[in-house]
Amino acid sequence: MDAIFQMVRGLWVTCKRLVWRPVTVQYPEQRPQIYPRFRGRHVLGRHEDGLEKCVACGLCAAACPTGAIYVEGAENTEAERYSHGERYARLYQVNLLRCIFCGFCQEVCPTGAVTLGSEFELARYSRADAILCKEQLLAPKG
Ligand code: SF4
Ligand code: SF4
Repeated sequence: MDAIFQMVRGLWVTCKRLVWRPVTVQYPEQRPQIYPRFRGRHVLGRHEDGLEKCVACGLCAAACPTGAIYVEGAENTEAERYSHGERYARLYQVNLLRCIFCGFCQEVCPTGAVTLGSEFELARYSRADAILCKEQLLAPKG
């Protein structure tokens, strides 16, 4: 008797779900909703005047628990200025194969330069492609 009751109960749950709005989406035709606190691919921000926010302090690389970030700084000159600080990131790389999207890099950045954005399509065909360079990470100007 109990088995029949459980079966009817199970069927009831199934039937009920048939008329509910689905919780899944038809990806990739339909884009899923990205929540504000989602941590996706890194973005290197710019100031309103177009200069890069990153000043190559290296804190993000130091805080990263997996060693996914590599930063190499260089001095700005009057002829070539990339950031407001003395230094800018000549090289900035994020290794997506190492990153665990913990957000520590974003937390420690003193200028708010690195943020984890909403990009989640991070599959790559090769290991080399999984190392993103500064040009791929920089936010577009304007
Ligand atoms: S999100 Fe975490 S693991 Fe990924 S680069 Fe930043 S600090 Fe490293
Ligand atoms: S992203 Fe932020 S923490 Fe990392 S090197 Fe640039 S300024 Fe420093």
